Amino acid sequence: MDPRNLLSVFKTVQKKNLISRTDISKFTHLSESTISRCVSRLLEKGLLIEKRLGKSSGGRPPILLDINSEGPFSVGIEVGETHVDVVAINAFYKILKSESRVVPKGISIDVLVDEIYDTFATLISAGKIPREKIISVGLGLPGIVSKDQKKLLLTPNSHFETFPSSDVLQRILDIPVFYDNGANLMVFSEYHLNRLSSDSILLGVIIGTGIGAGLVVREEIFRGSNGASLEVGHTVIMPDGPECRCGRHGCVEALASVPKLIESYNAKSNNIKINDIRELHELFSKGDALAKDVLEQEAYYLALLLANLANIVNPSRIFIGGEITPVLPDILEQIRKHFSAQILLTNTCDIRISKLDQVSIAHGAAIMAMEKEIESYF
Ligand SMILES: [Zn+2]
Repeated sequence: MDPRNLLSVFKTVQKKNLISRTDISKFTHLSESTISRCVSRLLEKGLLIEKRLGKSSGGRPPILLDINSEGPFSVGIEVGETHVDVVAINAFYKILKSESRVVPKGISIDVLVDEIYDTFATLISAGKIPREKIISVGLGLPGIVSKDQKKLLLTPNSHFETFPSSDVLQRILDIPVFYDNGANLMVFSEYHLNRLSSDSILLGVIIGTGIGAGLVVREEIFRGSNGASLEVGHTVIMPDGPECRCGRHGCVEALASVPKLIESYNAKSNNIKINDIRELHELFSKGDALAKDVLEQEAYYLALLLANLANIVNPSRIFIGGEITPVLPDILEQIRKHFSAQILLTNTCDIRISKLDQVSIAHGAAIMAMEKEIESYF
């Protein structure tokens, strides 16, 4: 059995709710015998349930399939430098309970692993989630994750260089653990929250201290050949521009990251100095001319990046978000205007501001882990 068939049957039931085996076959174009094998496996694992409902043309009503919202469950964890966010989801990918914890900056990785375990334990106890019903745990990490999703290969944050492999956490939690990159998981969460169609290609660009991106292609996270795709922050948009931490000149990250935007305001301002993006947004709202200037420049840089990416990827939709969010409504129209002027007519698409919140990486991690585990049931 192809593991993807199992997932495809599961997702069809999830989207259609109460569906017969014959109708699953129509939607998936899989044979009735394949559907039958997949459904048996998913029933055995408790992910689906059978209900006898609906109309019948005489005789007994047909047996319909539904997702079992009472478990199995999956847990997603975002591990950041200063916080651990945890969510539990059911098989509809609905968040049942979430928990956030601030962790002291610079604590040792061993202490951080203890914090992850404690936050997990608090979540399942506060949410009254039976531990034996949790089939998988996903972790969103700051960096590039190996293809088997077990190790953090490269991280811009040296603090995470010794982060243990997923086997270590798997032993502590006694549940299968999968890793992924935070940006990938944010886009995955956004994709599911927006209930985009299964043929959508969603590109998400996250602007914070760094500039990262994720891509969901037809329901799956695109990871490139070894997990290192979409390092978009190092797209050169000004060859004679300032030096970037990667060694090149004029990378978009060296021009348009949130710290660069704040730096650029402070460098040009004689009296007012700002500390964060909210202060920049407030100045813009009050009509501050310099705030307007630096944000106009920012919109242009971001539009260049998005147009370069859209010409390569040809997405059906782009969303933007991250730490920069407070100023995005101020510059969205300008980004769209510059984007339209830069993009090939064939590659144009809508740009929106992300709906994501603090637990979006954890939410994406929980979905990713549940799907990885379901695939392993074939
Ligand atoms: Zn760079």
